[in-house]
Amino acid sequence: MQETVSIGLNLIGGEWKSCRRGETYELYNPADQRVVLGRFQNSTEEDANDAVRAAKAAFSGWASLPAPKRAEIVYEAWSILKKRSEEFSLAITVEEGKPLADSRGEVKRSANVLEFCAGEGRRLGGDTIPSELPKTFIWTYRRPIGVVAVITPWNFPLSIPVWKIAPALIAGNTIVFKPASITPGIGIKLCNLFMDAGLPPGVLNMITGPGGSVGRALVENVDVRGVSFTGSTETGRWIYEYAAKYMKKAQCEMGGKNAVIVAADADVDLAVEGVVQGAFGSSGQRCTATSRVVVDSSIKKVFMDKLLEKTRSLKVGPGTATATDVGPLSSRTQLEKVLFYISDAVNEGAKLVAGGRRLTGEDLDHGYYVEPTIFDEVTTDMRIAREEVFGPVLSVLSGSGMDELLQIANDSTYGLSGSIYTKDIARAMKYAHESEVGMIHINSPTLGGEAQAPFGGIKASGIGPREQGKRAVEFFTEEVVVYLDFTGSKREAKFI
Ligand code: NDP
Repeated sequence: MQETVSIGLNLIGGEWKSCRRGETYELYNPADQRVVLGRFQNSTEEDANDAVRAAKAAFSGWASLPAPKRAEIVYEAWSILKKRSEEFSLAITVEEGKPLADSRGEVKRSANVLEFCAGEGRRLGGDTIPSELPKTFIWTYRRPIGVVAVITPWNFPLSIPVWKIAPALIAGNTIVFKPASITPGIGIKLCNLFMDAGLPPGVLNMITGPGGSVGRALVENVDVRGVSFTGSTETGRWIYEYAAKYMKKAQCEMGGKNAVIVAADADVDLAVEGVVQGAFGSSGQRCTATSRVVVDSSIKKVFMDKLLEKTRSLKVGPGTATATDVGPLSSRTQLEKVLFYISDAVNEGAKLVAGGRRLTGEDLDHGYYVEPTIFDEVTTDMRIAREEVFGPVLSVLSGSGMDELLQIANDSTYGLSGSIYTKDIARAMKYAHESEVGMIHINSPTLGGEAQAPFGGIKASGIGPREQGKRAVEFFTEEVVVYLDFTGSKREAKFI
């Protein structure tokens, strides 16, 4: 008997459709390549343009709905997601590979964002401003941008789309969403969630297909007035350049090379716990993952002993197994990239002290498993200390005293997140003020963020207004100022 493979369709104008040329691509489970997860639309520019047309047609109806009414739909999506959280968690693990505990965390975070953004529907106000003219009232309000493209990566296939789509909806925009090609199934589930919550047809559209053609066509479509992107710095740079040229709004969240400083007075056990969680959780495939640790030479030996012991105790395996700490990498491309960086670091003279190999054997042969890997004696000029690996690979650097530790941590083109372990308030404050990153942690891992706080980086890690938190609607709106003259007759005052 032939096995049936599910077919994922595009969502355009409220209808699930095949792409125009009728081609699909096959997707496999990253934990076991023998398992086909489904077939998805290999769309082209034509489909992208169809989706933009549908979003444009739905815009005026959606934008004219009062924001608290739009928010009711986002609240409903929140309520449905909470009820179906286990189903969504399992789907993330199967498609992306991360352990179930991490997927549950992602679903929880997505629900928090929906809840927070829905509340913003009742707070989408502006300012009233005193005028220097008599009988003049000045106020501001926020208008939606129009049609926005949401282009997202595979590493957080639910929460990143949610934290872009929810504020875009609240602000009154209509959307064309392009999920990463290796996690389209979660994108489809998310669109269905919003439709079940009552979102009108055409407000949220989704197409799958290669970023280089379909994603590009969205960015280049004249009717797309804003692009919210998360992914590699290379793609983000192109999107930002293109948007600048054609005066579109763009918001790009990109890579990181996040460092943890372990100061001389740190609680070493706490630091080891945080570094291991940051470096190897979700197989290091987080933009906020810890990829460098900069440790004070005076405590390096004790730190390294504990770090190696903890790292060697991690269990690598399929994300669905309850004992798994570290799941597979999400794709063959990621596997090859991570193995390249490992061999390159060895060639550059970094000292491999843990891991370093692709894992095989019974359950692992058909998945993309790499051992949690640590390089010691890394220097700031090595590629392993400078480029984003996006895998379970940690570089250890060392220095003496706060100034040197900070200077090493700041020696990066990236600036997403960072952390310090110290009990000394003066060191913590120095770090909080001088660390060149957008998100700072003190005595906690480089990871994560809360729905009500801004998320994003500086330098090559992020450009454009911050995501999440109460300013998330900023990117998805234009601020307009209104002057109302209520003198009712010719006024004396002169304008400048
Ligand atoms: P990309 O930047 O290529 O992909 C991110 C998203 O952009 C995907 O939906 C992709 O589509 C799409 N895309 C690709 N090219 C274009 C384009 N020219 N125009 C518009 N959209 C485009 O990242 P990758 O997934 O290829 O990952 C490469 C590396 O990027 C990783 O190894 C990691 O270092 C970094 N990365 C960082 C992330 C972060 O959270 N900061 C997240 C993911 C990756 P498609 O999937 O079809 O290619």
